[in-house]
Amino acid sequence: MSRFNQPLGGNDMPRFAGPGTFMRLPAAQTAEGLDVAFVGVPMDIGTSWRPGTRFGPKAIRAESAMLRPYNMWTRAAPFEALQCADIGDVAINTFDLKDSVRRITAFFDDLLGHSVTPMTMGGDHTLSLPILRSIAKKHGPVGLIHVDAHADINPHMFGEAIAHGTPFRRAYEEGLLDANRVWQIGLRGTGYTAEDFDEARGWGFQVVQAEELWLQSLSPLAAKIKAAMGDGPVYITFDIDSLDPAYAPGTGTPEIGGLTTPQAMELIRGLAGLNIVGCDLVEVSPPYDPSGNTALVAANLLYEMLCILPGVGKG
Ligand code: MN
Ligand code: MN
Repeated sequence: MSRFNQPLGGNDMPRFAGPGTFMRLPAAQTAEGLDVAFVGVPMDIGTSWRPGTRFGPKAIRAESAMLRPYNMWTRAAPFEALQCADIGDVAINTFDLKDSVRRITAFFDDLLGHSVTPMTMGGDHTLSLPILRSIAKKHGPVGLIHVDAHADINPHMFGEAIAHGTPFRRAYEEGLLDANRVWQIGLRGTGYTAEDFDEARGWGFQVVQAEELWLQSLSPLAAKIKAAMGDGPVYITFDIDSLDPAYAPGTGTPEIGGLTTPQAMELIRGLAGLNIVGCDLVEVSPPYDPSGNTALVAANLLYEMLCILPGVGKG
């Protein structure tokens, strides 16, 4: 009998029933005593094209019901080493993006008063900025692994400084990032100018465009990132639109020519051993995801990120 919370198993309660938490873990009211807290940020008022990510956390939790505790390739056994629970959703103000950003930071400031690693389900990518504000208060400027079709470094969108296409410019400007330890992976598509991805290279970011990765294993890239990151704190932000729309159609701003699901798994698995202080998985839009596949991929990638957290051993 483990001393840690376990996901509710399919032999104890049918998988289509039981609690609606991530992996049917126990729900918790606070992060007291937790090593890992799954959090939902049900927000889509920062999106610029298709909305719907407000339903993301609920759909990811629903698809996570089929996940079992052990990773059958890496043999990771997260629930033998970490006390995990789902602490529910941030009560965003769906009528006010700026107030929602303040509410997210307040929630994470409180959460990070405990020694817990947040695993966040989005929600649109705006949410990474308020989380990074809290993370940097606790850990200082962090290394960032940003997997996305988009750079999300617009100076503004429709005149607004805060939106889902601006968080990493704001994070850079505010000193939340260790700019020489920032990797943007999977960028592609069309831009407003041909230099759109170059400005951040000038800030020190490493930018790996999707075309460089076509038809390749991502294990060598993961090894390179690991070597460059060293022992310092690292935050992982994973936009589901980094994947090709063939694998993850349910998202707001899809771009063709993206990563495959196995490439995403290779990348995450190859990052085991880093000093990861938080992760998010964003931009799942269930109204555009009729099969549920996008939320299923998202739930699995969150699980893969759980499996590489510090302290997780093999079963
Ligand atoms: Mn994004
Ligand atoms: Mn994106």
